[in-house]
Amino acid sequence: MAAGQPAAPGAVSAATGDSTRFLISDLCSELEAYLEPEEVEEVYRAYLLGAESHEGQTRKTGEPYIYHPLAVARTMAEMRMDHQAISAAILHDVMEDTATSKDRIHAEFGEEVAELVDGVSKLTHLQFQSKAEAQAENFRKMMLAITRDIRVILIKLADRLHNMRTLGVMRPDKRRRIAKETLEIYAPIAQRLGMNAMRRELEALGFSAKHPWRAAVLERAVHRAGGNRREPMRNIEQAICSRMEAAGIVGRISGREKSLYSIYRKMRDKHHSFEDVFDVFAIRIIVDDVDTCYRSLGVVHNLYKPVPGRFKDYIAIPKSNGYQSLHTILFGPQGIPIEIQIRSTEMDRVAESGIAAHWQYKAGSESSRTAQSRAREWLKDVLEIQNSVGNSIEFLENVKVDLFPDEVYTFTPEGDILVLPRDATPIDFAYAVHSDVGNRCVAAKIDRQLAPLSVRLQSGQTVEIVTSPGARPNPAWLSFVVTGKARTGIRHCLKSMQSEEARTLGERLLEKALESLDTSLPRISPARLDQMLDAMQLADLDALLIDIGLGNRMASLVARQMVGKEAPDANEEPTTLAVKGTEGLVLNYARCCHPIPGDPIIGQLSAGRGLVVHRENCRNVLHESRDRGDRTIALEWSHEPQLQFTAAVRTRTANRRGALADMAAVIADHGSNIEHISFNEQDGHSTAMTFLLTVRDRQHLAQIMRGLRRLPDVLRIARQRG
Ligand code: MN
Repeated sequence: MAAGQPAAPGAVSAATGDSTRFLISDLCSELEAYLEPEEVEEVYRAYLLGAESHEGQTRKTGEPYIYHPLAVARTMAEMRMDHQAISAAILHDVMEDTATSKDRIHAEFGEEVAELVDGVSKLTHLQFQSKAEAQAENFRKMMLAITRDIRVILIKLADRLHNMRTLGVMRPDKRRRIAKETLEIYAPIAQRLGMNAMRRELEALGFSAKHPWRAAVLERAVHRAGGNRREPMRNIEQAICSRMEAAGIVGRISGREKSLYSIYRKMRDKHHSFEDVFDVFAIRIIVDDVDTCYRSLGVVHNLYKPVPGRFKDYIAIPKSNGYQSLHTILFGPQGIPIEIQIRSTEMDRVAESGIAAHWQYKAGSESSRTAQSRAREWLKDVLEIQNSVGNSIEFLENVKVDLFPDEVYTFTPEGDILVLPRDATPIDFAYAVHSDVGNRCVAAKIDRQLAPLSVRLQSGQTVEIVTSPGARPNPAWLSFVVTGKARTGIRHCLKSMQSEEARTLGERLLEKALESLDTSLPRISPARLDQMLDAMQLADLDALLIDIGLGNRMASLVARQMVGKEAPDANEEPTTLAVKGTEGLVLNYARCCHPIPGDPIIGQLSAGRGLVVHRENCRNVLHESRDRGDRTIALEWSHEPQLQFTAAVRTRTANRRGALADMAAVIADHGSNIEHISFNEQDGHSTAMTFLLTVRDRQHLAQIMRGLRRLPDVLRIARQRG
């Protein structure tokens, strides 16, 4: 049993500066301890490419640039990472800062290294702009969401660590900004991944760079108070040591220095005085196995009285990042509290380096294990620990979501982060901003490029919604949006649009019907109208018009009631309504006969759906209501130029290669598009097809058909009837 020894070596060296340069030879000898010779060789080749690429560049410190990537690789080597990760660490800035391309890295070092370097470069592009503190959490998640290989995060952390170690050369304002980002983004990521050694150093460097004055004051206070404590501290350590020896327990005991940042945070967040926070002895006991942890706990509880209610068993119930330990507080001599942590060597390793501990290179492990499968393995291990105590909910919320997210993290143009479910589209984004933005959305720009409104958003993208005051939601959006907010917003807006359209159509139908009875709406007495509305149990005239427009009531019947006529007159003029062309919510063109301007048309009112426009000879309207005239209405085209309609054309074409291409060319030459082709039947010589073509009117369609008929392969062609 030895007291006073340092705690288990952390995953990250505690080097405080780069006074002695770390050279490629140093890196190689460090790697030789755990990698195969040919793997070390490859890392060396990566070094040669890195040195060549960064040739002539220097850092702010005045050093050749290559010392920075070498220092990053060193941290990765201390975490015992595989050779691809080390190579990528050496090359991590070449894509960003030099002319060396991803293709070249791919060609020389394979896909894995190229993807890692690419991943780090992508994270470098991600700028955390928002001032809002609450967004930091989302930004951390976004970093993890973008990263498909967790080693990219480890390289990024090592990169940030070296930048923080050499921060002194930066301008004070830049130093503070980087320090803030380190404290808000990088240190918490290290913590989330269980990498406490990394977290502690990032926090220490970040704290002294962000609050140099507070850090200096605290440090002096710690130094002053520390002098008086050395003696009692040694006595306590000795006392615990001999008790454990007497119990036959082998282990290591070490006094722990509280970090300045953790003292600062406790003082700030819990409003404790410096004495309250600092006047605590902190001791860590590391033993071989779990059993011995509990036995050691018994020993220390026997030596000093435990403070009631302060014992925590993180071995049985680990923290969400997999951290395991026993924590207890004892009443020491003179009533000074002693904080004790007890854990096994393995738990200590995990507590210091977290996910990296799981990553550590294992000799002979098959290389087929992908990076992601290792991350999953780590996850599985942590999950198993969690499951054994039935505490997996918090874990799932914290860790799994980060590594395998169900969410995408996107930026607004102002740099705020918007969290959306996976598969969300720009429309979901627009409605998440505001329902007005959604309702008026006409286009979207993703990373400044115009993009389809139905595209699936990816984490890290900046989305800008283009709106227009007169725009309205498109019913087709409902087929691809994923958020409830977008769905409700679209439906709500469509419903009010439908009522508006139905009211307008209803009014036109009723006016036409009244006209044929030689009267008009203004000439109907209000009393008569109220009486009718009462009988129909309708609130007002609008409700009646909407009902007519939706096809729930016949305009001609309502008109007759209004003038007090029961039966139709023989000399009553049939009414004709002009159709403006644009399809809407209560006016639709029948999919059976595809009417186009120039065709004789007829309207059929169907309850709740409004008016469907058919060609007059369409079989679907033939039998039923046509003769009775109760649900149909005569229609005519009103002139509205340059609208697009759809016409269906049936063809029989010889089976010759290129026949279809020739037809497509003719159609395109006539300024039409093929919306859809269906193949109906085929024999040895010919194929029957139906084309849906966009046309302006009958004349346009006739020109296209004439053009097609001239093709030798087109054996037969005709417009499809309903
Ligand atoms: Mn870098």
